Order: sequence, then C-alpha cells, then structure tokens
Amino acid sequence: MTKPALLLLAALAAVNAADSDLVRAKRIHAQTVAVDSHIDTIQWALTEGVDLSKRLSSGHVDLPRLREAGVRAPFFALYAPTYYKGSEAVRRTLQLRDAMQKLLDAHPDEIELATSAADVERITASPRKIAAILTIEGGHQIADDLAVLRMYRKLGIVSITLSHFRNNNWADSSTDKPEHAGLTDFGKEVVREMNRLGMMVDISHVSDKTFYDALAVTTKPVIASHSSCRALSSLERNMTDDMIRALAKNGGVMGINFGAGFVNQKDADAQRKKIMMRGALEPNLTGKALDAYAAKDFFDNYAKMRPSVATLGDVVEHIDHVVKLVGVDHVGIGSDYDGISTVPVGLEDIAKLPALTAALLSKGYSEADVKKILGGNFLRVLRAVAGK
Ligand SMILES: [Zn+2]
Repeated sequence: MTKPALLLLAALAAVNAADSDLVRAKRIHAQTVAVDSHIDTIQWALTEGVDLSKRLSSGHVDLPRLREAGVRAPFFALYAPTYYKGSEAVRRTLQLRDAMQKLLDAHPDEIELATSAADVERITASPRKIAAILTIEGGHQIADDLAVLRMYRKLGIVSITLSHFRNNNWADSSTDKPEHAGLTDFGKEVVREMNRLGMMVDISHVSDKTFYDALAVTTKPVIASHSSCRALSSLERNMTDDMIRALAKNGGVMGINFGAGFVNQKDADAQRKKIMMRGALEPNLTGKALDAYAAKDFFDNYAKMRPSVATLGDVVEHIDHVVKLVGVDHVGIGSDYDGISTVPVGLEDIAKLPALTAALLSKGYSEADVKKILGGNFLRVLRAVAGK
C-alpha cells in the first residue's frame, strides 16, 4: 500500500474511533442518571416567563434538552443577587421557589421535586421524568436567621452556597475583601444546622479561609457546586490543589464550572475585571423596582453569549486534573449553564454533554469512571448528607 493510502486509512480509523466514542457516550447518557450540580435556569422562568417544558431556541437548558443529555437530576439554583438584602432576599427566594413550583405543578409527568437520593431513584425510574433538586445560591438568602434556613429545608431545598459574589454578615466571599477572617461564629452555627437538617454545604464562591473554616466544622461531606481548578485557570472562584485535596479528604465533590473564564486562562484574564465588578453593584431599591432591576441585570448579563477561547478540551483538562490529584470520586459536572456569559466551543448547551463524555472515553476513562463523574459522585454525597 502507498504511503498516502496508509495515512488515509489511519485518518479514517481515527474518525471511526471518535464516532464510536460518541455512540458509546450517547448510550451511557441514555442509561445514566446524570447530575449537573448548578444551573441558573429557573431565573429565566421567573424573569422572562419562559416555558421550560418546550425546547427553547435561547438559553442553555430546558426539559427536552435535559432529557436528551440524560441529565435527569439537575440542581436548580434559586439565586438572589447580593443586592437583595435581609427580608428582600427571602422574598426573592420565595418568588424563585414559586416559579419552580409552577413548573412542577404544570408538568407532573415530566418533573418532580427530589429531596433525597431515594427520591431521585424513584422519580427517574419513569423514563421521561426529571428529578429536580433545589439549592440556594448565597448565604445572605437566609437573612441571618436559622428559622429561615429550617423553613427552606421544609420547602425542599437541600443545599446552600455559603456566600455569593460579596461577603455576607457571616461568611467571606472569594470576590470581596476579607472581613470576617472566614466564617464567623454564627457562620459556623449555620454549617452545623445544615449538617443537622441534612442540607449540603456548598463552598463555591467562598473565600479560601471560609472554605477551610467550613471543613473544620462540618461533620458531613461538602460540595463545590460550580468551581474549577485554579492551577489551570487562576481565578479566585476556582479551587487550589490544596483545597481540592482537602475536599477529597472530606469525602466531598466539586462540579466543574463550564464558564470560559473558569476553564481557560486567556478567558479568565479577560473576565476577571467583570467578575469583580459584578459584586460591586448595589442599587438602592426594594420591592417591584428591585425586581425590575434584577430582571434587566440578569438579561443584560446572561441572555447573549460573548465570544471565548475556551473549548470542550479545557473542561476535559479540568476533570482530568482533579482525577490525577485525588482520584475519580471527587469530581462532577457543575456547568453553571444559564448563569454564565461565555461557554466553551463544543459545549454550547446542555444537550452537548455526550460530546464531553466521548472525549473522556477517548482519553481512556472507563465507563464506570465516567458514570461517577456524570452523576454518581454527587448522588453519593446527597445520600450521605440528606439521608436515604
Ligand atoms: Zn455562582
């Protein structure tokens, strides 16, 4: 055989291997209950009134695309920006919970609230159904009151991110100036109460010191619902190798954030200023005027994707970095879809997830390992924290 013919054969073999990895990936997604530990999609239902039961031409996530990707247990974040203060933050949280309830009530055959791993198993036994896991993004949303925290648990919320872009009254944020040297005594009480209530402590967004304080107090595994690796993309929101080792020792899991700046250094450098700025906005408004401001803020920031350098390959590198550091039991997917303004090429929305799985298979990951990354690890922590 001539040399060009041999090269052509080798190229065809590579294409066939990639094809068969994608076929395998799609089969795995059809059989697996995949978890995405952070999507901001419910904000669109609240502020724009979008019908998530339909396949949308905008945004990153809806029920048809979740089903297509096999993401049968997404974590819906009820996110109130930090400019919602005190009882206003509680009011906003209830609006988001109400928007979620409308979706649950309108489509009981397609989506149901899950507050435990057993719920997830029961709900996803129906082939079309999504098990909705509810989380809160920002400790300010409890308005410094453990009674509010307890009632959130009764509303089916199983996780809270201790802080958001700004410090709150009891936890320092990674994107603000240190104020409390980590967690205050009340902050530690919040962690203990979350342990008692069976709520997962989420350390995405918190300062490094808050992270170590939370680990020192918690008796249960914690999660980083949407953070990537600082060694690969130096951003305060990402986790250092030392933090990842500590998280693994605690039995926890981190969901890799797909935001371009979270996974690619060039995008991180371009976005750093904007990320720091996001936390600095403080409109002096309340009630409907504040809601109108928040709706516009969300639309302006997240309706249209900006160009980025990052690709699906960068996300693979972050997953692989965690696996090389601490093994395969402590990493998952925490895309931050519908809450990011840049996406990697090849992962433009949640329906593209099988392409990520195919890339992991091509890299030599076993199907068992891929299944842990896709959801098994997060479901293990949910079971350990929220009970059966
Ligand atoms: Zn976030």
